[in-house]
Amino acid sequence: MGALTDLIYAGSNAVAGLTEGAVNDAIKKYGADRKIAFPDTAYFFPTIFSATGVKVETLGTLPACVGVLKSLITNKEDLGDALNAGLATAVGAEIIEGLKYIEGNPYKEGPGIGFVPDPVIRSLGVPLVTGDIPGVAVVLGEAADPASVAKVVKDYQSKGLLTFLIGKVIDQAAATGVKMGLEFRVVPLGYDVTAAIHVVTVAIRAALIFGNVKEGDLPGLLAYTKERVPAFVNTFGPLNEVVVSVGAGAIALGFPVIVDQDLGDLQIPGALESVTDYDKTVKRSLELRNIKIKVKEIAIPVAFAAAFEGEIIRRPDMAVEFTSDKNVTAELVVMKDAAAIEDHKITIIGDEINASSPLNMALATYVEVSGAKMRVDFEPVLERRIHHWFNYIEGVMHTGQRNLFRIRVSKEALAKGLKLKDLGEVIYAMVMDEFGTVVDKCQVTLVTDEKRAKEILEKEALPKYEARDSRLASMTDESVDCFYSCILCQSFAPAHCCVITPERLGLCGAVSWLDASATKELTPTGPCQPISKEGLKDAKKGAYDSVNKAVESATHGSVGNVTLYSIMEDPMTSCGCFECICGILPEANGVVVVNREYQGVTPTGMTFGELASMTGGGVQTPGFMGHGRHFIASKKFVSAEGGIGRIVWMPKELKTDVSKKLNKTAKDLYGIDNFADMICDESIATESDAVLAFLQEKKHPAFAMPAIM
Ligand code: SF4
Ligand code: ZN
Repeated sequence: MGALTDLIYAGSNAVAGLTEGAVNDAIKKYGADRKIAFPDTAYFFPTIFSATGVKVETLGTLPACVGVLKSLITNKEDLGDALNAGLATAVGAEIIEGLKYIEGNPYKEGPGIGFVPDPVIRSLGVPLVTGDIPGVAVVLGEAADPASVAKVVKDYQSKGLLTFLIGKVIDQAAATGVKMGLEFRVVPLGYDVTAAIHVVTVAIRAALIFGNVKEGDLPGLLAYTKERVPAFVNTFGPLNEVVVSVGAGAIALGFPVIVDQDLGDLQIPGALESVTDYDKTVKRSLELRNIKIKVKEIAIPVAFAAAFEGEIIRRPDMAVEFTSDKNVTAELVVMKDAAAIEDHKITIIGDEINASSPLNMALATYVEVSGAKMRVDFEPVLERRIHHWFNYIEGVMHTGQRNLFRIRVSKEALAKGLKLKDLGEVIYAMVMDEFGTVVDKCQVTLVTDEKRAKEILEKEALPKYEARDSRLASMTDESVDCFYSCILCQSFAPAHCCVITPERLGLCGAVSWLDASATKELTPTGPCQPISKEGLKDAKKGAYDSVNKAVESATHGSVGNVTLYSIMEDPMTSCGCFECICGILPEANGVVVVNREYQGVTPTGMTFGELASMTGGGVQTPGFMGHGRHFIASKKFVSAEGGIGRIVWMPKELKTDVSKKLNKTAKDLYGIDNFADMICDESIATESDAVLAFLQEKKHPAFAMPAIM
């Protein structure tokens, strides 16, 4: 054991020395008052902030942090102490990487991305809780043979894991054709071993964002990363003492380390293990974190994995495109009698795709299902999944839905032999995999014949879409007899529970009332449970005894009172993965709403990330509330405070997106025409005074409402 602790201490001491030198040099050069920050985060230097509560904002704060770092290195021959020295290395790495940002983004030129901004972490919440991203792999070093890196990384990719690359493995993976970028779930961080801190702070910020772990609570932090962040490390190539001490830091956070060198009796079973056969690296890594892979194996000529969901196929790379701009398109899932369906029948009507296909073709994707427990209400739930399933196919890109979509098939996929028939196989396999509890039989027809596609569109699809829309429009919170809880995010935010109503979808934007009801049917004891509407206490606020009781039990007593429609009184909690955040702007007597994609500052003086850091982790913060995009135009949106008439500012993109529905709601509620034009956005103003001037000029209704606080 002595040899291992010696190595760790050697590494930690080396990093401590480097850090101290770098801090002193920087202060000499720039002065102690020089500001320093990572981009787009509300958590300062996240490792230091979470472990000690210290907010690093200037260079002058750093010498004290170096002191703390050194105090973590006891040089005692004790494994626990040595792992703590690994944490010291993490602190040192954070400072060294942070100093690189002093004159702007050092990772601008790539290929590494460096620090991962807060909004990206929030966007990972739902895929992580649903198991869509089953785990996080950190691959570090330089392999003797690039093919071994490619093999391991591609395997993780095909299993949907999120993989971070550090060191020469970045070039090795790139040279062997691994597709990289956040959209492919293979993310290069940087060449220096200190870049490993950028994945460490992802885990640490997950604890702060989702877990409500308080800054300074080091034991709470370590318990969270160990229990709730399914990450592990693979190192390639010979180890030096710095890599070993980085590994010790990983182990202290609960992340096992697999090395490709034979460590003999230096191994710590379960935490530090040697696997020298690359065929076994992935299997052992997943075992150590108990990561279960749910990806289906489907026999098609290209890869099929959630990791390909974000793949973009550009015009020059596409072989065939099915787009509503140019041809007839439709996507429809319908429920039929069992007798009308031949299970697993896949039919192509019209031309298959091949090397001589025209660039643009019509496509109607027509899926018929039957099942004793199937309900017409579930049709759109299944139908919306087609978008994801098609995107999981390597070389296929899908955007939109219904009769407004664009599907591109890449030249590469066509050359590998991908056919429409394979798309049918994917739909069949995934319907049975994800909806097997309600679907007994499924048949898929893909129609490229323009005339037949038009028939399907006009005779079946359009009337169906219309019927569904009017059903949705008629579905109000008053018209149903139950709401649903959703506690899917509790694996990251143990004290959080969403209450889902027809008019208020889950804050992640991914779970509507119909989705929740389908989830209940698919997994009766699963994350979504019905809440019967009983004990109405206040209709305007949306306060019910039954909701309070359900939330109290779902959050194990953490939250006792929740309103559905108020931002000021017992607002719904947030896990952290909300699409938008709403916060009050007292001087305008209203609220601003900002979406995750918006990077600028809002009139509150805060960015999305900073506003978002005010709520999350399942706590209630009156005045701040996370919510889904589609809730904004609802008549129930902050209705306790007067409704959408309180919205005074939104980013332009968001405003444009919701304006049609927003205008309709405003007309219905207040008789105001073109309400969206009264809402300020960043193209008009972000400074409080200018925003107020704009609102006054527009005679914004918020001014006539009672004081919001
Ligand atoms: Fe998480 Fe709420 Fe979405 Fe459920 S509805 S997945 S709890 S954010
Ligand atoms: Zn969530």
